[in-house]
Amino acid sequence: MGFNEILVCDQCDLLLDEIPLEPGGKAACSRCGNILYRNKPNGLRLSLMFSLTGAALFLVSNYFPIVTIDSNGLSNSTTLLDAPYRLVHDGIPSIAALVFATTFLMPALEILALIYLLFPLSLGRLPPGFSYAFRLVHFVKPWSMIEVFMLGLLVTITKLNAFASVVPDIALGSFVFLMFTVTAAAANFDPHSFWKQIEIVKASQGKI
Ligand SMILES: [Zn+2]
Repeated sequence: MGFNEILVCDQCDLLLDEIPLEPGGKAACSRCGNILYRNKPNGLRLSLMFSLTGAALFLVSNYFPIVTIDSNGLSNSTTLLDAPYRLVHDGIPSIAALVFATTFLMPALEILALIYLLFPLSLGRLPPGFSYAFRLVHFVKPWSMIEVFMLGLLVTITKLNAFASVVPDIALGSFVFLMFTVTAAAANFDPHSFWKQIEIVKASQGKI
């Protein structure tokens, strides 16, 4: 296994020799101090665990109502996907598309791509088309904004409470946990460890 690979600092373009690290250690660029890579022994396993938990929470968050609004004896339950649906209904499809993409589509793709990459890898297999799925994770990350949506939701609930009784439902709780699990899954997905693991699996299959 080539430990003397050369890498490039993505901040200042300095060429550096890769050195092996102690578990928990990190390598910084000697010129600009940018963190180049870390040795997180359980990072990928943790990322997979958080992604699987995130997938379950995602289903709960979208299936069950997020709030129930009681007004003048009328009770109305709303799910997360009702938000873009209402926006289309109100004649603003562009905002509806943005809400749908940032709170449903992109987080779903991020979770699925992470599971797609990490599950086979945890069993010592190569996920087919892993370079595409890896790029997908990086593409969707800036577009996945469930924490922004969550903030807007909490503000709306607080404001609505002046006019009607707004009761938080099961999906609101799971959505809060989803926010943390998705962040934890992404934070533990270390690209350097990922590619190392790909090399190890390739080597064990005799592909290099
Ligand atoms: Zn540098």
